Amino acid sequence: MQSLDPTLPLTLDNGLSFTPDSIHDQVIKYKFYKRSGYFKSVNSLNFNGKILPSTIEKNIGSIQQVIFEVTESCNFACSYCTYSKFYNNKPRGNKTFRFEDAKKILETILSKREKKKKDVLIVSFYGGEPLKNFSFIKQTVEYLKSYSSNQTTFRFNMTTNGLLLKRYIPFLVEHSFDISISLDGDEIANSFRKLKNHNPSFPIIHQIIDDIRKTYPVFFDKKVSFLSVMHNKNNPASAYRFFHNEYNKSTATSDINTQNIAEAYKQEFYDTFLADPVRDPAEKKTMKTLLLKHPKVKELSYMAEKYSGVLFEDYYQLMKNHSNGKATKSYIPTATCSPFSLRTYFTADGSILPCEHINRIFEIGTWAKGEMRIDITGIANQYNHYYQKIRKYCEQCYMAENCKECIFHTGIENEHPQCELFMNKHKFEQYLSGNFSTIENDYALFLRITDHAFKE
Ligand code: SF4
Ligand code: SF4
Repeated sequence: MQSLDPTLPLTLDNGLSFTPDSIHDQVIKYKFYKRSGYFKSVNSLNFNGKILPSTIEKNIGSIQQVIFEVTESCNFACSYCTYSKFYNNKPRGNKTFRFEDAKKILETILSKREKKKKDVLIVSFYGGEPLKNFSFIKQTVEYLKSYSSNQTTFRFNMTTNGLLLKRYIPFLVEHSFDISISLDGDEIANSFRKLKNHNPSFPIIHQIIDDIRKTYPVFFDKKVSFLSVMHNKNNPASAYRFFHNEYNKSTATSDINTQNIAEAYKQEFYDTFLADPVRDPAEKKTMKTLLLKHPKVKELSYMAEKYSGVLFEDYYQLMKNHSNGKATKSYIPTATCSPFSLRTYFTADGSILPCEHINRIFEIGTWAKGEMRIDITGIANQYNHYYQKIRKYCEQCYMAENCKECIFHTGIENEHPQCELFMNKHKFEQYLSGNFSTIENDYALFLRITDHAFKE
């Protein structure tokens, strides 16, 4: 590298050259990044944090959401179902939840409830297809509605494929359910979602949704939402257009599950669901329209919030004392939720799990005849053992302070867990420079994000 004279252009060994003006800009940028903590050592975080049994005990007293696997069975045969040949999973069973068991479970949970002024418990019905066991849903809702407590309010929600909605919608409207219908978009986008006889589900579900919208327009507007899996037959833009044009709504998108795929079907999985994806020809325009509903904008705003040093979600984030290279706080590795703090998933076959999105081997308790068996110390030990196992990876990870990964998605049950989101220095540089380039090249988009997205 040549000597630094601010009046001369500068050419680095790697060929990058800078005019005197741009050197000035780069120095300002460097100072800004340094101030924002970009150059602190990767292993500056202290991962000595632990989950304590007392925390778990406290969590149980304020569970936010109880999810019942109402039935294991389903009336669809989606190609990408986690019970399809593509995933390592036990065969789908036929068990159903009995109301008497759920009643006992709920009684126990409510008896331990911490006293709060405005206490809300969300009760969710999940499947299989939950409406296949409607009598369970009806009895549980009626029981909770008559529960003699003026302390806790119950809110009900359900994720459904929609096939039985028409029959049961009056009850769901009466009890103000929030309903999420799984639909991937138009007929082609939805082609992996099949009926049991392998016919396409789209025409029939589309008709059912139209009928519900016509009969219950206010309920439809306020309480019905959509969930779409993204694969090679759709993308956020096509999904946005479909739901906007058809229903004046958007949809919550999630990528197709690429975890736990059976080795023998890996190639076929890729060829079927990921090869030759439909691209969005006007992606930038879509990003501006969708804002946080677009995965790239979501990532950009996450990065801006966590790393720009100028955007704060709330006053706490603004005032938070950054460690600036000194290990001042004990972190618990990963972004895993504390057991029982958010959700608790009760499966029809007697497991208690931290949520419905993780492998069933990670149970944190069992239930039988409505009696729960939870070993709080055992759970704390198990979590802390997992944290100890992943810690060596997190200590070397540039995303550690703002991790988004759940420990149960890292193969933590294996001798050598593997985190797909692990960022070494090179990956982190690419992540930052990719996002900063988007901002530098489209400042108007960035302003839109700061102006609108952070208010959402
Ligand atoms: S995926 Fe992990 S972090 Fe998310 S709710 Fe489930 S257990 Fe918690
Ligand atoms: S992204 Fe993975 S490796 Fe990095 S801190 Fe999170 S869990 Fe650990």
